[in-house]
Amino acid sequence: MTAVRTEESDAGLQLLILNARIATHDPLRYNIGVRDGIIVSMTSNDVDPAPAHTVLDADGRWVIPGAIDTHSHINQRAFEYDHLPGLGPDDNFAVESQGALAGGCTTALNYAQFGSASLLAAYRDGLAAAGAQSRMNVLFHGYLMDMNHVEEIPQAVEEGLTTFKMFMPYRGEEARNLGGIGSLNHAQMRDAFAAIVASGAQALVHAEDGDIVDASMQRESALGLDSLAGWERSRPTVAEGDAAWTAMYLAEEAGCDVTIVHVSSLEAIRARDAVGFAGSALESCVHYMVLSTESDIGPEGKVAPPLRDPELAEQITQAVLAGKIDFFGSDHNVWPAATKQEWESSKPGLPGIGLMLPLLLTHLVYERGMSMEQAILLTSRNAAVRFGLDRKGAVALGMEADLVVLEEGERQIKVGELHTAVDYSPYDGMTLRAWPLATICGGTVVYQDGEFPHDDFRGELLNNRFRR
Ligand SMILES: [Zn+2]
Repeated sequence: MTAVRTEESDAGLQLLILNARIATHDPLRYNIGVRDGIIVSMTSNDVDPAPAHTVLDADGRWVIPGAIDTHSHINQRAFEYDHLPGLGPDDNFAVESQGALAGGCTTALNYAQFGSASLLAAYRDGLAAAGAQSRMNVLFHGYLMDMNHVEEIPQAVEEGLTTFKMFMPYRGEEARNLGGIGSLNHAQMRDAFAAIVASGAQALVHAEDGDIVDASMQRESALGLDSLAGWERSRPTVAEGDAAWTAMYLAEEAGCDVTIVHVSSLEAIRARDAVGFAGSALESCVHYMVLSTESDIGPEGKVAPPLRDPELAEQITQAVLAGKIDFFGSDHNVWPAATKQEWESSKPGLPGIGLMLPLLLTHLVYERGMSMEQAILLTSRNAAVRFGLDRKGAVALGMEADLVVLEEGERQIKVGELHTAVDYSPYDGMTLRAWPLATICGGTVVYQDGEFPHDDFRGELLNNRFRR
């Protein structure tokens, strides 16, 4: 097996990838030429290639689009750990974006840092941090936690925000523990959907019904929360169904496109089928398929919505295979293991931006027989279309050269090899069947064989494309 090789010369193309296997039924191997970050040539590998500054020989390996993670929380810090390497304001974006690239993810749709203060201030801070540090492309999502944020929508859209997330579950003490997350009631959601559509933006909703979650959590707390099964009972699937149904209904009434994020059950899928709103989309996460309440990870496995029982995890897999989910987010959180020690106080959230693509490919393509073409829709193309990044998510002429060269085989996940500042992984010890050998962002080789060449590379701040 030949390793990917790099040659540096100054002429012609920016990058040439030789002998690439691409996701068509075509058995040919292609030479892919890149100039100014765009794929400008694709020739069969018996044609003499043009000279290039950098040459990678994929040697027949898959070359697929870099993943677009539609849901990450880089720089949503646990402030008491800011002093630890990689977890502070000056390095979290740098470290976590490298971890993402090592896992083949070239674009993160990342949430501006939550809080009840100004959304615009949080967004501008996020742009500054990502601009200074991020090695990957970043598109920020905004959020609406109270009606002051709703009033900020027109100015935020002027400045390039195109997506606004609302929360339905978090109230009282739970909201305070999560850094001041606020939820909107149904009347406020109506106003928010109207304001979003008036500005030409779209909505995202964390759909778990606050009334049901509140009552269920109190009941489980009284019994003594001590297992992932108990945590699951405290946020039952009916809460997701109820909320997803309401969110899609209200969004349709307002004529506002809405994505239900991190779908964890069949209830949200049933709600979409029933409401039938063409402007709705469903995002899910790989952890709802490959982890469950039976995973031996203790309170580190707390996440909201919760991991479900193994039977439901299998049903989610079947729904994904049947095309019921549109795209995936990692819901990557950067809270260290120290915040995940006790059942009651443990913060909900899992790390995983650097494992999303390898785990999805392993689970869906290598273990369940999904085609690579279908996997590319789920890991990049559908999200690109949904969020206005039309030239991402395909290996074709005229597309942006965010690419991954895949290695196939068997490799065990080890926390220490993940290039992240987060010191645990719920996937530790699991076996991957495919992972990136090299990752290319905007035509630059930003990850190769465990190394990050071009450390001065910075990804694109994609919101700038949408400034008015
Ligand atoms: Zn999230």
